[in-house]
This record gives sequence, structure tokens and C-alpha cells, in this order.
Amino acid sequence: MNDVLTIEQRHRCMSHVGAKNTKPEMVVRRYLWGHGYRYRLNHPRLPGKPDIVLRKYRTCIFINGCFWHGHEGCRYYTIPKTNTQFWNNKVQRNKKRDVKVQHELATMGWHSITVWECELKPIKREETLKSLAYTLNRIFLQDRTVKRYEIPDDEPMMAAENFCNCNM
Ligand SMILES: [Zn+2]
Repeated sequence: MNDVLTIEQRHRCMSHVGAKNTKPEMVVRRYLWGHGYRYRLNHPRLPGKPDIVLRKYRTCIFINGCFWHGHEGCRYYTIPKTNTQFWNNKVQRNKKRDVKVQHELATMGWHSITVWECELKPIKREETLKSLAYTLNRIFLQDRTVKRYEIPDDEPMMAAENFCNCNM
């Protein structure tokens, strides 16, 4: 009798949690997990403590709030009319740090993927997650192809440069 109640309670509790966890990061995590991708969260030894780390793909995923990380051209990135200078400085600092972190990761041979919160709104979610999976698989294949050839020393750095530009 007690057991039944416990299970029922637990179930209710879990579905409650499930309903509540619509946070953008959870959306991505649930999708990845459901599609067989395994990851670590907030890896403490990698620059920028990436939200999601997929070791097999040597990829870090950052889920960025459009305001705090200054998503250019996004309607969710509007600097308030008051304290404009303050907010501007804050966002610019975050952006600089994001670029620095991605550089550091790239020189360590890690890929970075930025997912913007606006891209996870219900209307865009499916498309975003699909293209995320596509990107991961492409990275995986690319890395394995590259390993079969001799890479000149300066190549990884160039790749890092290209990568950062893509993300700006
Ligand atoms: Zn945005």
C-alpha cells in the first residue's frame, strides 16, 4: 500500500518536473539524450565551463541567452533605455569572453557550437535541434577523415579562426 503510494507520488513528482523543465538547456539535453548522444554537463576543466560537453565529438555546446550574450540582430537583444551604458558594457564583456573561450577551446582541439535561446522557441525548435544533430555528425565524420592525412602545423589554428568567425 505504501509502495503504491510512493510510486504514484514519485510519478506525479517526475511528470511535474518534466512539465516544468522547459528551460532551453533542458530542451537540448532531452533531445540529445533521446537521440543517443551522451554528454557531460559544465565540464569544470574546460574553458568557459561549457553547458554540454560531448567528448566523442570533441564538441562543447553553449546555450546562450540572447540578451546576456548579445545575439546580434535578434529581437530579444535590446539594450534597455535606462542604464544603457551599464547594460552595454555588461553584454560586450560577455561577448568578449565568449570569443576568448571559443578560441581557447579551438586551440585545444575542441569544437564549439552556440545555440541561441531564440532558436529554441517552439516554432524553431525542431529545425534547430535537427541541424545541431547534423552538425555533430558532420564534425564526427570530418575529424575522422582528417586523422587519415598529415596535417600541416598551422592548419589547426586556421580552423580555429574560421570557426570563430562563423560564430560571430
Ligand atoms: Zn536570439
